[in-house]
Amino acid sequence: MKTVTLRNGATVPALGMGTWNVGDSADRRSSEIESLRKGLEAGLRVIDTAEMYGNGRSEKLVGEAIADVRDDVYLVSKVLPSNASYDGVRRACRRSLERLETDWLDMYLLHWRGGTPLEETIRAFEDLQADGLIRGWGVSNFDVDDMEEIEDLSGSCQINQILYSLEHRGTEFDLLDHDLKAGVVTMAYSPLGQGGELLQHPALKEIAGRHETSVGPADPAQIALAWVMRRENVMAIPKAGSAKHLLSNVASLEIVLTEDDLKVLDRAFPPPQRKVSLAMI
Ligand code: NDP
Repeated sequence: MKTVTLRNGATVPALGMGTWNVGDSADRRSSEIESLRKGLEAGLRVIDTAEMYGNGRSEKLVGEAIADVRDDVYLVSKVLPSNASYDGVRRACRRSLERLETDWLDMYLLHWRGGTPLEETIRAFEDLQADGLIRGWGVSNFDVDDMEEIEDLSGSCQINQILYSLEHRGTEFDLLDHDLKAGVVTMAYSPLGQGGELLQHPALKEIAGRHETSVGPADPAQIALAWVMRRENVMAIPKAGSAKHLLSNVASLEIVLTEDDLKVLDRAFPPPQRKVSLAMI
């Protein structure tokens, strides 16, 4: 299974599980829990959540899903910029831990940059780590200039979680290489274009037609994920609300895109020729 390695030495599968909008509907709850459980059974480890998602409902559902298998999970949550002061981060972390029914987070990210000085948020992260409540920290939605600032302040930022998919390739111009050289893992969010038009694109259908997986002929979602994970130390965190989608996503780890596949995708989704400001959802 393709993996990524963090600068603290932890190695995790390059495919993780997103949980935005999870826990919002009573009708979907058992299917969403089953999806996370199937992912863990299939060998995935990273679950990404945030205090923001459903105002804590996502964290609650994740807590329920992993209660008896906590040690198998590499748990990531995020603090809102409005809680990024020293005391705010410490309080938000404790609330997240309570909702997740766990004693620690494997990774705690600043969801996006707000008005609080980065030094203050970093100090809170480092104290939480010293207290054993988190095992590492990182950021999300940080472009190159923000990353340079972080790196001037600390050498401990582990992850930058950003929008990266065939539809949003701007970071290939600079940020992805910058983070790789800095030893920061890129966690690609919305890698399936949120299940929208991307998955209907004829180029993805064409490439899917060229590949097989152990669960059957490849489909556009698997190609979109294999494409994101082709890069060194980039992981993808698609959200799947059903075991069917989840297991299909796991099979994307088997797909190795050829040079010719990549050329077809480059023609359909051209790579950037100049700096593009980091897009975010
Ligand atoms: P994704 O690109 O992961 O798309 C999710 C959609 O794709 C859902 O509608 C899902 O449907 C569908 N889907 C999943 N698997 C398949 C499949 N095999 N075939 C067809 N459709 C499929 O969008 P997200 O925005 O959810 O991004 C992923 C995660 O990234 C989030 O859940 C969150 O954890 C994180 N994120 C972080 C952000 C940040 O600012 N840091 C911003 C946005 C997201 P179904 O539910 O029916 O399976």
